[in-house]
Amino acid sequence: MQLSVATILQDSATRHPDRTAVVEDGDRISYRELWQEVLGFAAELRARGVRPGDRVAVLLPNTADFPRAYYAVLVAGGTVVPVHALLVADEVAYVLRHSGCAAVVSGGPLRPVAEEAAAAVGIDVLDVRTDRAPLPLPEPRRPDDIAAILYTSGTTGRPKGAQLTHLNLTMNAAVCAQDLLGLTPDDVVLGCLPLFHSYGQSCAMNAALRAAATLVLTPRFTGPGALRLLAEEEVTVFMGVPTMYHALTEAAAAEPRRPAALRVAVSGGAALPVALLERFEAAFDTVILEGYGLTETSPVATFNQHATGRRPGTVGHPVWGVEAGIADAADDKRIALLPDGSTGEVVLRGHNIFAGYLDDPDATAAAVVDGWFRTGDLGVRDPDGFLRIVDRKKDLIIRGGFNVYPREVEEVLARHPAIAQVSVIGLPDESRGEEICAAVVLRQGAAATPGDLADWARERLGKHKYPRIVRLLDDLPLGPSGKVLKRELREACA
Ligand code: ATP
Repeated sequence: MQLSVATILQDSATRHPDRTAVVEDGDRISYRELWQEVLGFAAELRARGVRPGDRVAVLLPNTADFPRAYYAVLVAGGTVVPVHALLVADEVAYVLRHSGCAAVVSGGPLRPVAEEAAAAVGIDVLDVRTDRAPLPLPEPRRPDDIAAILYTSGTTGRPKGAQLTHLNLTMNAAVCAQDLLGLTPDDVVLGCLPLFHSYGQSCAMNAALRAAATLVLTPRFTGPGALRLLAEEEVTVFMGVPTMYHALTEAAAAEPRRPAALRVAVSGGAALPVALLERFEAAFDTVILEGYGLTETSPVATFNQHATGRRPGTVGHPVWGVEAGIADAADDKRIALLPDGSTGEVVLRGHNIFAGYLDDPDATAAAVVDGWFRTGDLGVRDPDGFLRIVDRKKDLIIRGGFNVYPREVEEVLARHPAIAQVSVIGLPDESRGEEICAAVVLRQGAAATPGDLADWARERLGKHKYPRIVRLLDDLPLGPSGKVLKRELREACA
């Protein structure tokens, strides 16, 4: 059987050639045009020596060149290696070398970094050129061929190349487009999420193109900028990470007009504090549906699938074809499933589980046990199946022998009216092992002292849980998927 991610775009171009596929800076590119450009660039890749099975890196901002390059590599039968746009040249060179890329596609402001890295590795940098006679058809691929290798951003150590198959990515795009969001060609999806990351790639780009919807791209996210695009482009579906919801809510306070077409918002990538969900929903008069997943799970694994049946504070149920379990986190040799109501490690299996880390059998064997993927997240399932993510296993704080989950403390502090963003970490402490520290960003114009905030938390949390240390910061260090980089935060707060 043949199955290629390239058919996502091919199919929409056949069925809806005149619909707008991508909007960039007000320019509209139809499905027919985009597909022809992709076939043209695929021919260029062939002419530059790219063969089926070769790996090709893509280091591009969120412009129309990203889908052009991504799909052209796939049409040429290659494996695409999207590279994190904020890496420095040495880090890019690591990815190029580790993945054995034949070439790197780049342009715009990222080109100098691509050139430096490519020179170090001895490969070419290619521009996105679409003027060649197009390849007639995509190179056939099998469902278990590797379509993309996504390097994890490394908040847990050195980057690892997660290999995602054509089956993984086509299924995730179809599930997001159809089951989760019911996207149609009339939908307009705002893609502010970085396309090199799995969330933006699968849920915004591939799902929108799968449904022949319109994907609005913008290279840089700001609250006011996104608010303007939501209205101007009549966006119907917004996908974001919690920090974006925070920025949009702040921007909305200064702008009385509301984006009228918006029908649903999606959050993922990091825990969405319930207080923020409520603030956003009140300001925008729309629901946020929260989902959960990892790069290794393509990424969507669970989702609050219905606006009416959702449960804020949870990540919903497993999506179609995916199973979730709660396993004993201490048992790393096998998967010992625990009964409902127990807190343990979230494990997943189904069509979305990756094909292992590139050239890292030890890491793969540690992650995939008895056919289950160990997520490294702690969770608990409500009696009716809603999954709650308690925290990452490695972020657990042990203070004086008591376990404290930072997320619980964060949820409480997020309700303080002066607090815009909060992240809770453990700092080394001689007598208690670890002490709880809350790093806080105050809302614009709000005034509160660290002592006020600690007192407020003490009234609402057990004695072993409230933060003895509160640090006021201008912003929190964030990764590309909107997650707080806790390792950097610990250094900043120490
Ligand atoms: P690395 O894996 O190297 O640390 P990363 O954190 O950027 O890099 P991702 O695959 O982007 O890797 O992140 C997956 C993680 O994001 C999950 O394991 C989980 O901790 C967190 N996450 C994603 N969605 C949610 C959610 N809705 N609620 C809570 N946590 C979430």
